[in-house]
Amino acid sequence: MKQSLWIGGEYRPSATYSELKNPYNLEHIADIAVAGRDDVLDAISAAEQAAEKLAAMPAHVRAEILEKVAGFLKEEREECAKLISQEAAKPLKAARAEVDRTIMTYTFASHEARRIHGETVPMDAAPGGEGRIAFTVREPLGVIAAITPFNFPMNLVAHKVGPAIAAGNPVVLKPASQTPLSAYKIAQLFHRAGLPHGALNVVTGSGRSVGDILMKDERIKMITFTGSPEVGRYIRENSGLKRVTLELGSNSAVIVDEGVNLEKVIPRIVTGAFSYQGQVCISIQRIFVHEKVFEAFTQRIVEEVKKLNIGNPLEEDTDISALISRGDVQRTKAWVDEAVANGAGLKIGGSFTDGIYQPTVLVDVPLGEKVSCEEIFAPVVHINRFTTLDEAIAMVNDSKYGLQAGIFTNDIHHGLQAAKRLEVGGVMINEIPTFRVDNMPYGGLKLSGMGREGIKYAVEEMTELKLISFKME
Ligand code: NAP
Repeated sequence: MKQSLWIGGEYRPSATYSELKNPYNLEHIADIAVAGRDDVLDAISAAEQAAEKLAAMPAHVRAEILEKVAGFLKEEREECAKLISQEAAKPLKAARAEVDRTIMTYTFASHEARRIHGETVPMDAAPGGEGRIAFTVREPLGVIAAITPFNFPMNLVAHKVGPAIAAGNPVVLKPASQTPLSAYKIAQLFHRAGLPHGALNVVTGSGRSVGDILMKDERIKMITFTGSPEVGRYIRENSGLKRVTLELGSNSAVIVDEGVNLEKVIPRIVTGAFSYQGQVCISIQRIFVHEKVFEAFTQRIVEEVKKLNIGNPLEEDTDISALISRGDVQRTKAWVDEAVANGAGLKIGGSFTDGIYQPTVLVDVPLGEKVSCEEIFAPVVHINRFTTLDEAIAMVNDSKYGLQAGIFTNDIHHGLQAAKRLEVGGVMINEIPTFRVDNMPYGGLKLSGMGREGIKYAVEEMTELKLISFKME
């Protein structure tokens, strides 16, 4: 299968194609168009031409288009899940969950499209402001460039395309090179739903070369990026005065206080640490457990990890499959080996076969090790102990990242202390940091990014606030 670019509402062949392989068995899936400079410029022109039409489109029509896309996804749920599973090696169960969330995200976007509004401003609150009626409106920004990662190829595209269309902005989408097919699929669904030509364009090719064109082009008003902190920083530093939102990585932590029901908590923590092989931006990487329950907790986690099914992502009962690249397997191995050489205890895992790195549990890891302080993005978790809550909070905060954190506790004061003092974008009390529903504000501090997603919040980022003041006499 040859996948061409999607520009101005039609497929455009490209001069070059690159081979897309299944990360699990390295089988050839498709040949994907590599956009040249002119292709990217044409995609921007197509979006620019659609901008006026989209901005003039009534909110209820934009809402209906988004609703239709959610409906098509419901009809094609299984096909979409298989597509994700194949190109991202995401276990089918997790891929289906992603499609279900994508449906929710477009549904929320459709609701949000109907309620984008401003507020009245009491101008007479200031001397000299008397005799005026004033209000704000939210207007579309214009062409938005969306750059997305491999790990949620449908739902993270939805978190950009959904609010952009809801707010009346056309999009040039550059999906991750490993997961282009999910993005092209979505473009097709929007086309079927009646989105005007050029309102959504998909250009594939190397992130660096496509990204550089998008960043330099004056017609692009905003770049919304989800991906690694290194690329996020590069984009921030090279995008001039464009609006930029960055959803970046993390080494998320959870605190397990004494007295909590371990039978209830442990399956949740295993889900948070190992879903999609730990390749989730809010995967649990660091677990801080009260010293009184440390031994029992560790033993139960290891028992639970042994139950995970490892294998082909397309098989029904698979929990863990291949990492996105063989290079990531080698990197993970090097980081784990280094931690063990420097004193960490290896409780289970620590090895790999082909593309699959075994789910791994480490204990008593020196916190300067890469497995703790860098984002591992693999099925590796470490458990360290604490004596006081102050100590646990300090260890969670001792990170260059700050996306989400969790605490399991029966002590309401501990929960509230954590809520106040954890330096993250979201604190989950009695829940894993990996928890997310698609309408909540989501985003990070420090190297985890800037700006918020979660439809309503993304719509705020993707609109310009305009003040209108009417002088009465
Ligand atoms: P990545 O390597 O940073 O790639 C993300 C996207 O950026 C891809 O489309 C990539 O294209 C593109 N890109 C690469 N270099 C670029 C450049 N110089 N200029 C512009 N674009 C460029 O990230 P990933 O490996 O796909 O995803 C994993 C990362 O995403 C992790 O750090 C994870 O934590 C983070 N993430 C964050 C969130 C969140 O909401 N906070 C959610 C999911 C993932 P190519 O594929 O062609 O290189």
